Amino acid sequence: MKKSVQELVNSKRFNLLDYDRKGLAAFFVALGEKPFRATQVLKWVYQEGVEDFDLMTNLSKSLRTYLKENCYLATPEIVIEQIASDGTRKWALQTSCGNRIETVFIPEEGRGTLCVSSQIGCALACSFCSTAQQGFNRNLTTAEIIGQVIVAQKRLGDTKKVTNVVMMGMGEPLLNFDNVVAAMNLMMDDFTFGLSKRRVTISTSGVVPAMYRLTEACDVSLAVSLHAVTDELRDILVPINKKYPLAELMDACRDNAKIAPRRTVTFEYVMLEGVNDSMDDARGLIKLLKNVPSKLNLIPFNPFPNNHYRCSSKEVIQRFKTVLNDAGIVTTVRKTRGDDIDAACGQLVGQVEDKSRRHLKLKALGVISAA
Ligand code: SAH
Repeated sequence: MKKSVQELVNSKRFNLLDYDRKGLAAFFVALGEKPFRATQVLKWVYQEGVEDFDLMTNLSKSLRTYLKENCYLATPEIVIEQIASDGTRKWALQTSCGNRIETVFIPEEGRGTLCVSSQIGCALACSFCSTAQQGFNRNLTTAEIIGQVIVAQKRLGDTKKVTNVVMMGMGEPLLNFDNVVAAMNLMMDDFTFGLSKRRVTISTSGVVPAMYRLTEACDVSLAVSLHAVTDELRDILVPINKKYPLAELMDACRDNAKIAPRRTVTFEYVMLEGVNDSMDDARGLIKLLKNVPSKLNLIPFNPFPNNHYRCSSKEVIQRFKTVLNDAGIVTTVRKTRGDDIDAACGQLVGQVEDKSRRHLKLKALGVISAA
């Protein structure tokens, strides 16, 4: 829970990176300062890279002393860096409590995308996702989320720039709503990174009530992990579907698309051999997406140990894509990046044992082979 301003003022020391501009302005007002102190501090921290309050020379001496005594600025720290042959970089970052989170930078022609984590572990148990096998540990703070962008940009230096952020790392961002929204506000703030709303994407497995809240609270691009066109299969692949089934999910997507003309929702669809990659599935997708302004992103499944799925063949993925494109749905296949460092989105954890019994259920349903 975010602290109230009063609690903030009363509390001993707190991380200024936990607050977006609005939060900081409220804090300064509560201290008897002008709200524009927020933009001054944001500029020092995010644009000048200044961490020492004494160097923030446009603040009064007494305010600097107050900040020094009561506040701090802390990001998670890089403990491991891996650089793939295609330039993709994966960092393991350590939080103050010793947990590790992972952040991935994917350089492309003319842009650099940072894949950011929102939680330590994940509670949602999607059966094809390695983060799910970790279970859920805790929500990341705003400082730990925006800290991933700060640390990545610092490490990349002047040579490469983070131009896009996708909330597609570990965790379900909509289940850490307030902290994620504050962090995304910071990413888009002109006094920090100034990313446009089209360049900040939140990806959700379909937490429907939070999707409506998001439409109200924060205008960013929305991606939805669809992965199946029937409730029967989606219940297994993305179990939150049992709570918020497809019809409700699609309503929420339509609602989000209404925000602006020409706005689209990106649907992610992981290609699992023999599970969701048939022509029936393709036809089901066409039907499902017919009334939603949408783009479709087919994701080749990234295998990981102790998992029982296989990626659809290149030919099947291409055929699937052609059928969808021919039906007028803009469909792309996500390039696999950072293969040699195990860095593809949704696969940030690596060697974890599948403690679940989901594969048995899938076998019983004939979704995967008994082998
Ligand atoms: N919880 C959010 C964001 C995290 S994952 C969500 O579900 O959208 C980002 C994307 O990677 C999601 O579409 C997710 O379903 C997908 N993904 C997870 N594991 C994967 C794997 N092993 N191979 C390919 N994509 C995967």
